[in-house]
Amino acid sequence: MSDLRQRFFIEDSPIRGEIVHLEEALQTILAKREYMPAVQSLLGEMLSATALLASTLKIQGRISLQIQATGTFKWAMAECNHLGEVRALADYEEDPRFAEGTDSRTVLASLTNPVLFINIEPEHGERYQGIVPLDQPTLAGCLIQYYDLSAQIPTHIVLATNSQRSGGLLIQLLPRNEEEQEFVDEDLWPRLTMLTETLKPEELTDLSANEILYRLYNEEEVRLPEAEQLKFGCTCSRERCANALIQIGVAAVHESLEIQNPIQMDCQCCNTRYEFTAEEALGLFGEHLS
Ligand SMILES: [Zn+2]
Repeated sequence: MSDLRQRFFIEDSPIRGEIVHLEEALQTILAKREYMPAVQSLLGEMLSATALLASTLKIQGRISLQIQATGTFKWAMAECNHLGEVRALADYEEDPRFAEGTDSRTVLASLTNPVLFINIEPEHGERYQGIVPLDQPTLAGCLIQYYDLSAQIPTHIVLATNSQRSGGLLIQLLPRNEEEQEFVDEDLWPRLTMLTETLKPEELTDLSANEILYRLYNEEEVRLPEAEQLKFGCTCSRERCANALIQIGVAAVHESLEIQNPIQMDCQCCNTRYEFTAEEALGLFGEHLS
């Protein structure tokens, strides 16, 4: 049951949903660095959230959640692409609060000047960035509020992480036309969101998608397409490193080359090293070594 995304439909209703479980990918990410317990929890939740949100997009590309702050906690990101590849990373200074508990709320409550971005980057086409107010105690709460206010798609999300795995569940009320509206059970959405809230964190992380769906919605007819595999995967590439060099500018590249030649760029997510010789780095700007 590890590392799967299961879509589901409530029959004869405009409600669809997703359940995700991440275990191997989460372990791979947590093994790269020694994260403090509350940070592990936040990364697990961000990872499940991006895997859920990615399923709501119909694009080839990736979606990421990114937290930025100015206190001891600096930033965190989690990303999922259309192939079901996920990655996540965080940077912070030691803070005793992050070791006290294993609850992501501890980190969220500690943030100074926090901003949460949702980035959607299609392979072809325009990028989108939304800003999610971080004014709820939980990440799920912030995302629910964002979907209700900004995206105007009634959405309910629950997230949970333990030291082994992270889980997430999303349900959405899809837009209907007038004709469809006539046949809709108006109580269904409030009923299902209330039921969803009764799911305990340990049930979300430990039960299979089938068990969760039965536990919550056994009075409804639930249809399940085949589950999708999720896995750890890094989207770093030589091309992205080259773009990063172009962004910092030719003067900064000259400076870097004085300190280090070839320039070495290590991906912090997967530890891959990319090297650019002076000729290659300056070639990006049309400069040649004389
Ligand atoms: Zn990488």
